[in-house]
Amino acid sequence: MRIVLFGPPGAGKGTQASLLSEKSGAGHISTGDALREAVANQTEVGLKAKSYMDKGELVPDEVVIAIAKDKLASTGDAGYILDGFPRTVAQAEALDKALEELGKPLEAVVNLQVDDDELVRRLSGRRVCPNCGEPYHLESKAPKVEGKCDVCGTDLVHRSDDQPEAIRNRLKVYSEKTSPVLGYYENRGILRNIPAVGSIQDIYGRIIQAVS
Ligand code: AMP
Repeated sequence: MRIVLFGPPGAGKGTQASLLSEKSGAGHISTGDALREAVANQTEVGLKAKSYMDKGELVPDEVVIAIAKDKLASTGDAGYILDGFPRTVAQAEALDKALEELGKPLEAVVNLQVDDDELVRRLSGRRVCPNCGEPYHLESKAPKVEGKCDVCGTDLVHRSDDQPEAIRNRLKVYSEKTSPVLGYYENRGILRNIPAVGSIQDIYGRIIQAVS
């Protein structure tokens, strides 16, 4: 499987990418996760990325392109699932070039479609365990003990970019800078649009159908 999972913040790219990776063995590549790890470890990349991420802005292309290329180079025969990359047309062009060099061309770009009201609801209720990464939602997947991770007991966090001001900015950035990437892949004939509402399993089933 060699795909991009595309869609606005809160569309469920991370959840579906984890599931697809678990079942197919393809590598899950999330530039957002890689950047959050760099921020937590206070690396040079992390220090540069933090201020953009906190505001819901895009991190500069050259930084994320380097991360994605590095991760792609280490994927095996089972392929890759890109989650949150590319987010600009320049990133999409750099990705094509890198994949051509690696001999691992894209098979499909799956666009998860969700309307803005639902995205705001999903993002503002989102919580995550900073220790093991387990995701929660105050309405649809509340932890058993308020504020604590079911898996490891760590205090859950509300990501700074899931605060109302940053959410509004992320949706604006998506519509201005990221949505043009859809046209790029539509012209290539590999774009598959699917409605990303309903249960996680229903959406998973639609993705499998769209890529097979
Ligand atoms: P995500 O977890 O995918 O929503 O990413 C969280 C944040 O990381 C985004 O709001 C951006 O600040 C940054 N980020 C992740 N992926 C990219 C990308 N491909 N290009 C630019 N910034 C990114």
